[in-house]
Amino acid sequence: MEKLILVRYGEIHLKGLNRPFFERKLMDNIKAVLGSSGGIEIIRTQGRIFVSGIDNVNHALERLSKVFGIVSLSPVFVTEKNMEDITKTCVEVFKNSMDGGVKTFKVEARRADKRFPLTSPQISRQSGAAVLRNIPGIKVDVHNPDKILYVEVRDRAYIYTDIYPGPGGMPVGANGKVVLLLSGGIDSPVAGWMIAKRGVKPEAVYFHSFPFTSERAKEKVIDLCRVLSEYMGDINLHIIPFTTIQQEIYEKCPDSQITVLMRRSMMKIAERIALATGGGALVTGESLGQVASQTIESLHVTNSAVNMPVLRPLIGLDKVEIMDRAKDIGTYQISILPYEDCCTVFVPKHPVTKPKLDQIENSEKKLDMDKLIKDALEGKELIAIKPQ
Ligand code: ATP
Ligand code: MG
Repeated sequence: MEKLILVRYGEIHLKGLNRPFFERKLMDNIKAVLGSSGGIEIIRTQGRIFVSGIDNVNHALERLSKVFGIVSLSPVFVTEKNMEDITKTCVEVFKNSMDGGVKTFKVEARRADKRFPLTSPQISRQSGAAVLRNIPGIKVDVHNPDKILYVEVRDRAYIYTDIYPGPGGMPVGANGKVVLLLSGGIDSPVAGWMIAKRGVKPEAVYFHSFPFTSERAKEKVIDLCRVLSEYMGDINLHIIPFTTIQQEIYEKCPDSQITVLMRRSMMKIAERIALATGGGALVTGESLGQVASQTIESLHVTNSAVNMPVLRPLIGLDKVEIMDRAKDIGTYQISILPYEDCCTVFVPKHPVTKPKLDQIENSEKKLDMDKLIKDALEGKELIAIKPQ
């Protein structure tokens, strides 16, 4: 009796001619999280993927539960296609899956191979009878069973009881690349997770204002990337020295415009990184109305700094919803660590809430933006972060 993991995927079906491409991407991503050690094999057949040769099935299930594109997962036992082996395996699988609470069950059999001599109801009946004979105290309840024993007769017989949810979405990398502006806060890691769920691979950029923001603040962003990488594979983190730009803005421009000007310079630098790495859009953790810089007018002025689309996956979420999502993903506990943030170091006393583009552009003329951006990019540190 061989143990496999059955991977079910969904949205990929909708993609018509692209389907083989999406499936290959998903298989690559599965391979990446399971590692190439040992005899792991990934096989695609009839709209599902099977993984074999796994040493630690629970560990593999945990890893796979974070791979976008997967709808659900089952540890599956495979046996030969004859009723003797099938019923024997059914009893064993059911016994192993029992915990205290299981008093009733039913068998759901499916005969995909129509040459198999028994019909689906006959397979169910014989398998159910074997379980009843061998497991004391158990009863059949076809309407509301505590557990369902699934039997699928295909090229061989596949038997399982448990179905675990996957994260859904689409395989990361299947829908291109973006640059994620990743601060150490709660929001931007969630924005990155959401865009990756749509099959988009983020490259991360963090603006570091040393010594106003400490090494610890940078470590925090690295830790966030590590958590995110469990969902989206390796992440390149670009760390950009931002202090000079902030100081220039602080010294030369009106206090009320600092935040908007800072945000625009971040966008410009992120766009340059996107152009250099094949990214087609920028992603931020902004949503509407949290702070002065997140009014419609501010978003407009920020967008106008670049030619690329700026995606804001959190735009429709409440703060509480974002926090809940951050907790589910596993970034929340890192994000709330109290290290300073470059945007709280240089905070204007009275920020403009409705900036005017022409006024902002006038202020920018006082800065040698091209040189500031060039210097910042030259001081870049690049870290490749892998899932642990
Ligand atoms: P977050 O929780 O993501 O920090 P926030 O609600 O605190 O968001 P802001 O601090 O105003 O909002 O930042 C808005 C967005 O700008 C962030 O979501 C992020 O995408 C980007 N951003 C801000 N600071 C930085 C930084 N130091 N490095 C990279 N991106 C940043
Ligand atoms: Mg922030």
